[in-house]
Amino acid sequence: MNKQEKKLLSGKPVAARILNFCAESIAKRLSAGLAAPGLAIVRVGANEEDLAYETRILRDCSKIGIRPVTFSLPATISAGEFIVHIQKLNQDPSVQGILVFRPLPEHLDTDEIAHSIAPEKDVDCMNPINLKKLITGDRSAVLPCTPEAVIEILKHYGHNLSGRNVVIVNRSLVLGKPLALMLLNENATPTICHSRTVDLKKITRKADIVVVGVGQACYFDGTFFAPESIVIDVGINTKEDGSMSGDLDFEDVAPVVDAVTPVPGGVGAVTTAVLLRHVVNAMEAGNFSKNPEYSCTSSCSSI
Ligand code: NAP
Repeated sequence: MNKQEKKLLSGKPVAARILNFCAESIAKRLSAGLAAPGLAIVRVGANEEDLAYETRILRDCSKIGIRPVTFSLPATISAGEFIVHIQKLNQDPSVQGILVFRPLPEHLDTDEIAHSIAPEKDVDCMNPINLKKLITGDRSAVLPCTPEAVIEILKHYGHNLSGRNVVIVNRSLVLGKPLALMLLNENATPTICHSRTVDLKKITRKADIVVVGVGQACYFDGTFFAPESIVIDVGINTKEDGSMSGDLDFEDVAPVVDAVTPVPGGVGAVTTAVLLRHVVNAMEAGNFSKNPEYSCTSSCSSI
């Protein structure tokens, strides 16, 4: 790896390696005369970020042979109707993975919906059964895709995590909280910061690795970091001119830090690949829900 590659932590080679693994597994399955794995993508409404993520997933599915099925549900859907929909997918043997886009509209109880996804088809660690496995360090846990992508990138570029101070600027369930647990499992020392953190800059400047995900374009300039900092930008923001940006002012940050991920072409690309690897793992495990708790009720057939 040359100096430039070490400095710019591109997600592309990381994603390509994961997708190659997936493609090989699926090719073996097809050559054995079995069906390709299926991924159900469940989206409520049509916000720009969800649509962009969905487009990336569909593109990568077609590259490696996963069969995606997209469900675009109306923003007015009730929790009951949503759950019946999920139960049908739990029971469908052609579906190995179920992805529900978050955040859900406020009138839907995310917890209740997370509970309804069969744990073995839950490819983004929404169901509390999978979250509990993550908390207890159970290696059979299906990990949440974005934090797993962050760790994949760091490892791919040879950044050892054991003993490192890692600051995460985000405390959501999608990123900050699970990432902190995963870093503990890697023997790192994580610190979580958020909007009420006092003197954020003082904390980020002291860290070996900083992961940012505040959802504000160009929020972090070079003064937040030290020359030794390794910076992972999870933010995906649309600027006024329509272009995509992370949370970093990339032009300002890149020259002053040791290594940094770009946006686009960083964490997002790897998140999609990790998601598809979870579908392939579910396929390898022969997944379909055998747990009566996730069985289709009589009302399933009405939708
Ligand atoms: P979220 O739930 O809104 O969380 C944002 C977090 O940032 C919160 O913890 C918030 O603190 C913190 N925050 C906001 N402003 C801050 C500030 N000025 N200083 C310090 N902390 C601040 O969003 P999310 O779902 O976690 O997503 C975060 C970003 O990651 C978004 O841009 C999203 O598009 C992106 N994302 C990317 C991927 C990917 O694959 N690359 C996947 C998922 C999400 P409080 O908790 O105090 O409010």
